[in-house]
Amino acid sequence: MASQEIENLASALARLPGLGPRSARRAVLWLLKRRETALDQLLGAMAEVRDKLVECPVCGNIDTRAPCGICADPRRDVRAICVVEDVSDLWALDRAKLFTGKYHVLGGRLSALDGVRPEDLTIGALLERVEQGGVDEVVLAMNATLEGQTTAHYLAERLEDYPVRVTQLAHGLPVGGELDYLDEGTLAQALRARRPVG
Ligand SMILES: [Zn+2]
Repeated sequence: MASQEIENLASALARLPGLGPRSARRAVLWLLKRRETALDQLLGAMAEVRDKLVECPVCGNIDTRAPCGICADPRRDVRAICVVEDVSDLWALDRAKLFTGKYHVLGGRLSALDGVRPEDLTIGALLERVEQGGVDEVVLAMNATLEGQTTAHYLAERLEDYPVRVTQLAHGLPVGGELDYLDEGTLAQALRARRPVG
């Protein structure tokens, strides 16, 4: 039986996505055996991220600087904004390396069931970005869930008054699919075959 401190570490790790109690214990043991090479390094990296973590005031991405690396990157195309539900979707799409524009994180999806209304999401900030001009295309990259699609339709309606092309990911996406769980090839395909909303 391990000490309380070690138990605490194992149960904290077991809460991480993809790790159960068993793999958490293995990770703890692995770390304990490599105190200097791995444990200290992990602690240092975590402390640094914790201290520097900020939400990007422009797009809602989470990064260690504000504006985030994507917003600050001059090589990215400011004329296209890809709208996603969560930061995890932004990261998934960006891993696919096919979209060269900027992003906008809504902070969720419209949901009657969970009581999420348009004003609970960053829709106002998105419209402001579009209103400032210089944006040609808004790509709606909502998840292929009922709520995701409801959100996409609502956004398309709100964007009708602006001189922008509104597109959405191709419906090669599996129904109920969460972007975060798709492989990069599928994501890239959905992005490449994006089509106008309507
Ligand atoms: Zn940003």
